[in-house]
Amino acid sequence: MIYIGTAGIPGCCKGCNSIEGIKTISNLGLNAMEVEFVRGVKMNLNMAKKLGETAKKYNVKLSIHAPYYINLCSEDKSKIQASKKRIIDSCERASKMNADIVVFHPAYYGKLTPEQAFEKVEQECKNMLDMLKKKKIDNVYLGLETTGKLSQFGTLDEIIKLCKRNKKCRPVIDFAHIYARRGGNINFYEIFDKLKTLRLKHIHSHFSGINYSLVEKGKGNEKNHLPLDQCKIDYKKLADIIKKKKINITLISESPILEIDALKMKKYLNL
Ligand SMILES: [Zn+2]
Repeated sequence: MIYIGTAGIPGCCKGCNSIEGIKTISNLGLNAMEVEFVRGVKMNLNMAKKLGETAKKYNVKLSIHAPYYINLCSEDKSKIQASKKRIIDSCERASKMNADIVVFHPAYYGKLTPEQAFEKVEQECKNMLDMLKKKKIDNVYLGLETTGKLSQFGTLDEIIKLCKRNKKCRPVIDFAHIYARRGGNINFYEIFDKLKTLRLKHIHSHFSGINYSLVEKGKGNEKNHLPLDQCKIDYKKLADIIKKKKINITLISESPILEIDALKMKKYLNL
């Protein structure tokens, strides 16, 4: 099964609420939407439930993107607490709307070595999973996204290792971030090969073009997202691999022209 949709409400529906957003997704011939809590979790639980009902009616798969202000490796304990609260609040809403994954950018290394950061992120994820258990929320995965800056925890290998050790954690593959972080390089085969160890029934992913600065050969930092046709990432090839390998995947467009590029991807996949 392949789901394709947008990060947030489609651009053609600017000013719409999320419910209208879901209907628009369906009208466009798409079938997924990532609800964006990127600037804070403001939606109440009742609204989350309504959203879930609408999504079910229109056959749209929902996911949630937690706020950007998250750093599980902060030196300031209160910032870690606040980060976890944002993720837990997002999970509560995800549970109400039957979204199975809450996506977040886990952390910055700061002064920690990558190994220390791994331990810290893992410890905090375990703690959040305990908190979710206490709240009897067991239908939502913590979605750790592959990040686009060298200062951020979240290489593909780090995320896979963490998810391998914690079954309720899932990788979120951001193809553009991987490309930027590797200084304008991506190998789709390698990504899917590495993911095999997790035996996922379904992969959650983000796609877009991306602007990046090259730090040295093979290393870069993301700058901003771009439309697919302004970037060298070969998404046609990705679509071919997905079809050939029959990969179950959700593809969320984070392009500035959200639904236009989502529809482009749909076309590449002959759906
Ligand atoms: Zn993200």
